[in-house]
Formats: sequence, structure tokens, C-alpha cells
Amino acid sequence: MNPVIALVGRPNVGKSTLFNRLTRSRDALVANYAGLTRDRQYGEGKLGDRDYIVIDTGGISGNEEGIDAAMAQQSLQAIEEADAVLFMVDARVGLTAADEMIGQHLRTRNKPTFLIVNKIDGIDDDVAKSEFYQLGITETVGIAAAHGRNVRSMINQVMTLFPQPEVEITPFVSEEELLAEGLSADGEISTGDGSVELTEQSASAESEVEREHGTKVAIVGRPNVGKSTLVNRLLGEERVVVYDHAGTTRDSVYIPFERNDQRYTLIDTAGVRRRGRVAESIEKFSVVKTLQAIRDANVVILVLDARTGLVEQDLHLLGFVIETGRALVIAVNKWDGLEQRVKQDIKDELEYRLGFANFARIHFISALHGSGVGNLYESVNEAYKAATTRWSSNRLTRLLEDAVADHQPPLVNGHRIKLRYAHLGGLNPPLVVIHGNQTAAVPQTYQRYLENTFRRELKIVGSPIQIEFRTGE
Ligand code: GDP
Ligand code: GDP
Repeated sequence: MNPVIALVGRPNVGKSTLFNRLTRSRDALVANYAGLTRDRQYGEGKLGDRDYIVIDTGGISGNEEGIDAAMAQQSLQAIEEADAVLFMVDARVGLTAADEMIGQHLRTRNKPTFLIVNKIDGIDDDVAKSEFYQLGITETVGIAAAHGRNVRSMINQVMTLFPQPEVEITPFVSEEELLAEGLSADGEISTGDGSVELTEQSASAESEVEREHGTKVAIVGRPNVGKSTLVNRLLGEERVVVYDHAGTTRDSVYIPFERNDQRYTLIDTAGVRRRGRVAESIEKFSVVKTLQAIRDANVVILVLDARTGLVEQDLHLLGFVIETGRALVIAVNKWDGLEQRVKQDIKDELEYRLGFANFARIHFISALHGSGVGNLYESVNEAYKAATTRWSSNRLTRLLEDAVADHQPPLVNGHRIKLRYAHLGGLNPPLVVIHGNQTAAVPQTYQRYLENTFRRELKIVGSPIQIEFRTGE
């Protein structure tokens, strides 16, 4: 899981400036998911080969009416969701009452916290920091977010808290390999008669979630589209004990189960049911949880609500699924009791606006009544297969040759681009690596032509395909 870093502080200390630097600077750029929520910004940054998620809270007003008034729910949730908090203060303004209040609140949370003294451009770092010592935060770093000064070394320092997991997660451990290691699938205990019973997931099983548990299917969507209803419906016929899952607000519930002798793990982003926690009162939809679930899944079922139609947040989530390259099935829920005319309008709208996700199957379902739900499995299986089949270099190269024979790549400065052979460079999503000459000059349209050809010939439905060109090998 990628570490989550929250930027907290009163207005004008430079949170957005730092956020932009972390998520948009040349080598840090991954993405910026503005619009997933109203008051918070989520983005991804990169340090070396480590990705991290940044939340810019922006919501702490700093008025004097006490911590409840001063800290918006949104900021509280961001703190709860974070692995580390960057508490920003302004070196030019010095310590304020609002800073002290925020500091007090942070002390009650048990989060690694760094005090970031911003705007140290043109002033002495140590003098600037000394004014904030009384906040009692030992890890203090001076930066100038606007100029990038010390930002990299600061994030380096933060990331040392999260060492790279030792074992690389391999999504393709076979059942034989699992058995050889004396493990069955997570949470399953063989009953001896070949059937399995599902038990509570233990803490130690947590890391095994990282292993292979059949197809990992994340159910995602904005609040109230019907995710919980769908999860219950999908599991309806299966023998499953849904358990409360230890962890933080942002953890999804992982539910392993079998259907028709096939193994799945449902990643339930809606299923947080814990009592007696601060987070309980906070909205149960969590963007971080959703982003992590998508990353961790093989196939995402994106749930939309027919009653509200497509909204911005749906498109943002969809954009994120596509960016991560996950296989995708779209479920338009609450399809019950709609007039024919309304149904047609919705279909037209989806066709028009979801063009960029046209590799995904769309299902019209009623999670409440169960209609159409069973068919989702078929598309999930199809998408998983499309995303994880190991195509041979031979096959890919032959397809490439045929495609090139049908339509030559264009001339560049009088020389024809040569595409010689292809191999599979990755799975989920499939990455087709094409070797040739002058590949940097291959136009977008030609790339799309190749992509479409591979998709059609390999019958890839439900997964994006990535194409990468390499020259001179
Ligand atoms: P936010 O409200 O905490 O998100 O703060 P902003 O990022 O919007 O920054 C508030 C103001 O501080 C803007 O005018 C920034 O240009 C300025 N600012 C941010 N970082 C620095 C810095 O490192 N040095 C100086 N001098 N100004 C900065
Ligand atoms: P979540 O927030 O995405 O988990 O959504 P829920 O599963 O809690 O559902 C939100 C509301 O939509 C509840 O009142 C459900 O009963 C209702 N709902 C869910 N699925 C359907 C459906 O297929 N049809 C109709 N009419 N209502 C549904």
C-alpha cells in the first residue's frame, strides 16, 4: 500500500503550494485528482520508485471557537486516513493561536507528525524553526515550498518511515505454489471433504492478502450508489462470514469466497462497521480507501447510480481506474422501476460520455432485487483473463507484422518507421512492448490503430492495453 501523507495547517501557510510541488513537479508527477471531494485535494507523488498519496486538507479555519469548530470534519478525516501528517506553519508570520490549537489536536492522534516550517526563503532556517519549538514536535524541517528549497530532502525524511516492503507482491502465485508453502487461500480452512469454510481474517492473514487469492475484485463508487447492497447480493449465495476488520478507517474489507470452483476476493470499500471510533462519525466514503482498493484489485466494478445519472465524481473515479490500468466492469445500479424512456436516456448518456472507457462491459442491474447481478461474474472473469493472459512474443510479433502489412507506419524525414517485433512487458494491464526504429515518431493515430488491432485479434475485453515503443534493440 502506498503511504498516505496529509498536509495540515491553517490557511495561507502554503499547503496548496507544497501539494502542487509534490504532485506536479517534473519527476514527481503522477496525477492530481481534483474534484474527488469538495474540500480536499488528493494527488499522487513519487520519490524514486515509491509512490505516495498526498491529501491537501485546506479546511482548518483557525478561528478561536475551539477545536471542533476550527477543524472541519474533512481535515479530521484526512488526519485519520494518513500514515504521516505534515503540519505546516508559516515562518514569516510566526506561531499563532491557530497553530497551537492544531498542534494540540495532533498530539491526541497517534500519527507520525512532521512540523514543516514553510517560507524560509531569505531567512535563517534555524531561527525560523526555533520559534515553533514550543509546539513540541521533534521532527521539524524548514522548507520554501514556493521555491522547492529542501522539499525533496523533507519528503525523503518522511518516506524513511515507510520502507519498501521486502517481498515484492507477485500477483501470479499459482495454487501449487501456495500449497507448496502450506497455505490455502486467505481465511479458508479446508474441512477435509474438499469444501471450504470461511473464517475471520486474522491479523497475520493481513500480509497474505498481498498474495494471490483468486481474482481480486474491488467494488467502488461514490456514496449511496449501492455498493453495500451489491456486495451483500454478490455474496448472497455463498457461505461467507463478513467480519469486522481491524485497521484504520481507510482499510477496505477483504472477503475471500468461491463461486463455481473459482476463487475471488471481494474488496469491499463500503463495509466499514466499527464501533467506538472517532472515525465512526465521519462519512464512511473514503477517497484514499477507494484509491487503494483500485490499486490493489485485479478487476474493478465501478458502480453508478441510474437514478442520479453520471456525475463528476463518477468520472474522476473512472479516470483513476483507467490511469492505474485496472480491468473494469461498469455496473449501472438501481435499474429497477425505471421508465423505458428514462432507461434509453441513460444509455445514450453513457455511450456519449463513457467513450474513453469503451473497453469495459456495462451491466444494468438492480442490487436491491438481484436482477443482472449474477452476470457480473462473467464479465469479471472475462476482464481478468484479458488482463492476465500471457501472450507469447511469437503471437504478438505475428500480429504486429500483419498489422504493419495492412497499414504501413508513416514516413519520417523520408524514412519509414520500422516496427520489428513485440513482446509482453507486463500484465494487468497487458503491456505490449514494440521494438523498432524511429519509434519516437510513431503518431498517436497509428498507436491507436495498433492498440485496436491487438485488442480485436486477442479478444481483449474489459482491460486497457498499454503499448510501449523501444528503439534500437
Ligand atoms: P494554503 O492556503 O495553505 O494552501 O497556502 P497557499 O499554498 O495558497 O500559499 C499561500 C501564500 O503563500 C501564497 O501567496 C504563496 O505564494 C505563498 N507561499 C507559499 N509557499 C511559499 C514560500 O515557500 N515562500 C514564500 N515567500 N511564499 C510562499
Ligand atoms: P453505498 O453507500 O454505495 O454502499 O450504498 P448502499 O448500498 O448503502 O445503498 C444506498 C441506498 O440505495 C440504500 O437505500 C439502498 O437500499 C438503495 N439501493 C441500493 N441498490 C438499489 C437498487 O438496485 N435499486 C434501488 N431502487 N435502490 C437501491
